[in-house]
Amino acid sequence: MIRKLLQKIPSPFGSPQRKRTTPTVIPASQHSLRRERLSRHAVTVVERLQQAGYQAFAVGGCVRDLLLNVEPKDFDIATSATPEQVRATFRNSRLIGRRFKLAHVHFGREIIEVATFRTNHEEETSAEQSRQSESGRLLRDNVYGTFEQDAQRRDFTINALYYDVTSGQIHDFANGIHDIRNQQVRLIGQPEKRYQEDPVRMLRAVRFAGKLGFEIEQHTAAPIESMAPLLHDIPAARLFDEVLKLLMSGQGQHTFDLLYQYDLFAPLFPDTDEAIIDRPEYTLKIVRQALANTDERIAQGKPVTPAFLFAALLWPALPQRVRDLEEQGVPSIPAHQQAAQELLSEQCRHTAIPKRFSIPMREIWDLQPRLERRSGRRADQMLEHPRFRAAYDFLLLRESAGEQTDGLGDWWTRYQDANPDERRRMVREVGGDKSGPKRSRSRARRKPRNSKPSDA
Ligand code: ATP
Ligand code: MG
Repeated sequence: MIRKLLQKIPSPFGSPQRKRTTPTVIPASQHSLRRERLSRHAVTVVERLQQAGYQAFAVGGCVRDLLLNVEPKDFDIATSATPEQVRATFRNSRLIGRRFKLAHVHFGREIIEVATFRTNHEEETSAEQSRQSESGRLLRDNVYGTFEQDAQRRDFTINALYYDVTSGQIHDFANGIHDIRNQQVRLIGQPEKRYQEDPVRMLRAVRFAGKLGFEIEQHTAAPIESMAPLLHDIPAARLFDEVLKLLMSGQGQHTFDLLYQYDLFAPLFPDTDEAIIDRPEYTLKIVRQALANTDERIAQGKPVTPAFLFAALLWPALPQRVRDLEEQGVPSIPAHQQAAQELLSEQCRHTAIPKRFSIPMREIWDLQPRLERRSGRRADQMLEHPRFRAAYDFLLLRESAGEQTDGLGDWWTRYQDANPDERRRMVREVGGDKSGPKRSRSRARRKPRNSKPSDA
């Protein structure tokens, strides 16, 4: 399919590794990208900037995805205009970002991101424009440059294709077309240096490989395992955003496998990584099943929430923390509460989970032991709980990974469909109903109040 889309494009000359400053210009007649496929607003932004005398192109993910016949997530524009000049050209625009200053042009709910051509950081730039940490990481990236320089500072060759909506030409400075055709994710420039400048590029390599089904080119792949720990220096809020893009874009399971293969999972989820070492089969099963379910829901157009996914990713890490606290003499119920609290705050040091997700995440966990307690009116009250559905789905997920729950998931599946008489009987049978036989009632009381994931 890809080959067919690009079959008319002549093969670029020279090795893909070589730094080039003259773009290969591919005329509209030799590629499959048509401006109608772009957002109308993106075309408007490019045209208005060009009319104002600036250079302007659609660039990055939208060009790459459209060449591959994938629906772009958003439309990025690159221009010779400074953010202030973009701001002056569009009344409906706003300047954002400190690390990377750019303009957002608003059209109702759609935002077109407009970035000024930038250069890679060389000595001549002032500290105010560009800052690097001791490890070489870019802390600020506001040195403006030429069209050519902008191409060289981009991460991957497939992300450095510039589409001129007016002429229909694609400008390819880095042999991106070659790599699209050969399905390769290849860094521009020297891989170690590019990862040092921004370690998130390692995650982006895996993300594009996962999303597009591409290979990571061997020189781009080689340094990742040893450089993966550099991710510890990245702000946790940025990593949280990256994790969502990695795991909640429809290819989560495959992307997780790549993250794990390249040792990029441990810096993001250190506790889960330890759980994988402790109990590989169970932990990998629950993580991969949660991601498979998420991928399936996305494919069906159903909503997905990071709360459920994070609850699943961290659940296998809970038992060890509970055990540690119990060994220190903390009783079971407070040990579960404290373990959950500690695990969550530790995780937030790596990926900052906003409260709107961490609160429902805790609720999903807290409801797990409550699903076991079904006596009297408790089962009916549970059904009314706003998080019942998520908690029930979570129970089924735990069971699918092999946790032993004595058929609890099946019981709740039947209970939801049962009529009032059947429900009364089901509650009596589990031994919780006041009219039920004494023996089973007392057995229900003796049940542990908290289910332990360690029971799996
Ligand atoms: P998608 O939008 O589908 O996630 P994308 O390639 O458009 O993919 P964005 O994060 O929207 O990714 O970035 C737009 C473009 O900006 C990229 O295609 C790339 O050229 C450049 N870019 C983004 N992040 C980096 C980075 N960390 N280092 C270098 N270039 C980057
Ligand atoms: Mg994009």
